[in-house]
Amino acid sequence: MIIDGHNDLVSRIWRNEDVRHVHLDDAAEAGFAGGFFALYVPSPAPAPPTTVHYALPLPDPVPREEAARVAEAEYEIFCSLPVELATAAEDFRPDRVAAILHIEGAEPLAPDLSDLGTWYDRGLRSLGLTWSRANAFAEGVPFRFPSTGDTGPGLTDAGKALVRRCDELRILVDLSHLNEAGFWDVAELSSAPLVATHSNVNALCASSRNLTDPQLDAVGKSGGVVGINFAVSFLREDGHNDADTPLAEIVRHAKYIADRIGVDHVAFGSDFDGALMPAELDGIAALPKLVEEFRRAGWDEDAVEKLTHRNWQRVLGETWR
Ligand code: ZN
Repeated sequence: MIIDGHNDLVSRIWRNEDVRHVHLDDAAEAGFAGGFFALYVPSPAPAPPTTVHYALPLPDPVPREEAARVAEAEYEIFCSLPVELATAAEDFRPDRVAAILHIEGAEPLAPDLSDLGTWYDRGLRSLGLTWSRANAFAEGVPFRFPSTGDTGPGLTDAGKALVRRCDELRILVDLSHLNEAGFWDVAELSSAPLVATHSNVNALCASSRNLTDPQLDAVGKSGGVVGINFAVSFLREDGHNDADTPLAEIVRHAKYIADRIGVDHVAFGSDFDGALMPAELDGIAALPKLVEEFRRAGWDEDAVEKLTHRNWQRVLGETWR
């Protein structure tokens, strides 16, 4: 059974683009039990980097009214998917797909948090403060290579209030896309395990989107988890957006995290339908091939089970209790 930390199926459907990776018809055979399904308000796609090293500017902020309108439309799409809403760790079962309602970038929310309760009642159980763009709550990382995530200021007062409220409601606060100052603010404010749903290791691929060793250590100490992102530009040592990237790159990042903070703190966070994947990993149907790659690399069944679902189940259970 495989639980995954991030996909962009909903925003892909909202944009009328063909589904590339999350073909739900393949779920049963692939053992895909679901995971985090993001509502994401897109920015215009930046021009792809043309240099080996790059520093793309942060996309412009999206006005709240516009973001709220997109989020409503995407919520309707989410509700129309043939999946079960996941609000408890036990909701994930091998015989069906369960979806965590996740907002990637808090722009749709009112800065006074007056609509957070409505979203909670709809089933919202995970929230990324930013998708890189600055908003009323926080600022994320611009896409840079090489760079750490130390790129800007921490949470705003509204952002701190949002994290405290999520802590009370037991909504998971996702650290992926957040800059380093914001990461440490959340680490101080939140009592839940620290979670980066779709990020990798900065020491192996020096993208601003990846976590430094001190950040990984903090995730481990909190009992949290890092979902390994399959996007090739966050995996490769050279940072190139090149699909000719072996599955062993995913194992390399997972092994680094397991060796450094323990095998209890690493899982999958594919970024399916949101990024360029290794050519061999063209959707959920290919997930068993990826799991085989871990077995070939010497991961025993206990470690494979933690990686594929037990770590997510543990962290979700502790966060949502
Ligand atoms: Zn993302």
